[in-house]
Amino acid sequence: MSSDAADVVVAGGGPVGWACALAAQVSLGKRARVSVVERQSSQPSLIRAAMSARVYTVASGNLRWLTEQGVRFDLTRSAAVTELVVSGRDGQESLRISANDAGEAELAKVLEHEAMTDAIAKRAQALGVQFVSGAVSSLHDLVTHKLIELADRRVLQARVVIAADGVQSKLRSLSDIRATVRSYPQHGVVAHWRCKQPHGGAARQWFLPDGSILALLPLPDIDLAPAVSMVWSVSDVRADELCGLPEADLLDAVNAASHHTAGLICMASAAQHFPLTLVRVADPVAQRLVVVGDAAHAVHPLAGQGVNLGLVDARVLLDVWEHADKVGFDPGHALLLGRYRRERFGPTLAMQLATDGLFRLYNQMDHPLLMAAGDAGMRLLSRLPAFRRTLSTAAVQ
Ligand SMILES: Cc1cc2nc3c(=O)[nH]c(=O)nc-3n(C[C@H](O)[C@H](O)[C@H](O)COP(=O)(O)OP(=O)(O)OC[C@H]3O[C@@H](n4cnc5c(N)ncnc54)[C@H](O)[C@@H]3O)c2cc1C
Repeated sequence: MSSDAADVVVAGGGPVGWACALAAQVSLGKRARVSVVERQSSQPSLIRAAMSARVYTVASGNLRWLTEQGVRFDLTRSAAVTELVVSGRDGQESLRISANDAGEAELAKVLEHEAMTDAIAKRAQALGVQFVSGAVSSLHDLVTHKLIELADRRVLQARVVIAADGVQSKLRSLSDIRATVRSYPQHGVVAHWRCKQPHGGAARQWFLPDGSILALLPLPDIDLAPAVSMVWSVSDVRADELCGLPEADLLDAVNAASHHTAGLICMASAAQHFPLTLVRVADPVAQRLVVVGDAAHAVHPLAGQGVNLGLVDARVLLDVWEHADKVGFDPGHALLLGRYRRERFGPTLAMQLATDGLFRLYNQMDHPLLMAAGDAGMRLLSRLPAFRRTLSTAAVQ
């Protein structure tokens, strides 16, 4: 059994894991030893011709932060979101917020999962972060370190472990972190579509009478045609049905649900579906361990906030670790992790309650009056400039 000592070991090489590793190397400096352990054998690497099926709306504030850390994205494969338009069960617009409301040029950019992860990983590795291929299988406590055992029996040591290993986090279950993990009664059906008319930077969302939620996000042109990416959150049974439909029937279903607003003409990727899960932890911090990203707070995709919450985790870790010198250059010191807990617990819980609350409000199939009240309330509130300003400012952070 060999053992390698590091200051920070991040378990999970998704976008949030790499962002936390980058935050560690930037804040702790060159002398810090930072590693990312990822169970998928190779590092994320693109360059593929087709757009990835998994795309994110990354808020302007997070993009700005990543850019400030030296991350460079291939913007030819991204699209700006300048407006968010939400419609209620009757198909009428109930909320419109624009980048202008927040005094910004754009609310977010739509980026591919692999491109984003790859860009963050490249920058982190250029600064000295090590990539370790392997799956974490167990954790052990020493007084000043954690021992991390991999499935192939290699052992790593770290002063702090960052658990960024996704919704089904193994590290969360190996530690003392108490978590609520609940499956939503919905799956997200994703596909890209070519359209007749340009999207104009609008991300559109419909809360539909059957309780499903359809979102069409702007994409860069595909084969010179305007394109959008769909996330349709539907019941598990309906997800199977939709993915099994011939293209023409799926096209009709999506065009009808979106009131023909986007004018979809043909598919630009096959439809696939993913389970949707809520994860909530009682406390994201344990001894020399922090859970981040989906491992700490997976949310319904209706607000497009999943990856954004995880990127804010990384931003806060960077701020916290900038004070590591004051505690003997120990990034796992309880004082630092306590500060992380104080800064992240409240805002994360607020976002989870908001997305879960919205999901519940629009999924009251037995209470149509409540759903109608939700539409009307949203329409009323959206007339208030202060409300729109608050929402748009929250969206870009
Ligand atoms: C349909 C759908 C649409 C979505 N749309 C959006 C959107 O528009 N905007 C948005 O912000 N978010 C969206 N999300 C959420 C987004 O996908 C997640 O929030 C994001 O992927 C979380 O990143 P992460 O790095 O925390 O976890 P992941 O991306 O899940 O990465 C976890 C990594 O850990 C690795 N791993 C797991 N176990 C181990 C182990 N034992 N040892 C080592 N490595 C391990 C995995 O291989 C993986 O690479 C969507 C999700 C779904 C399902």
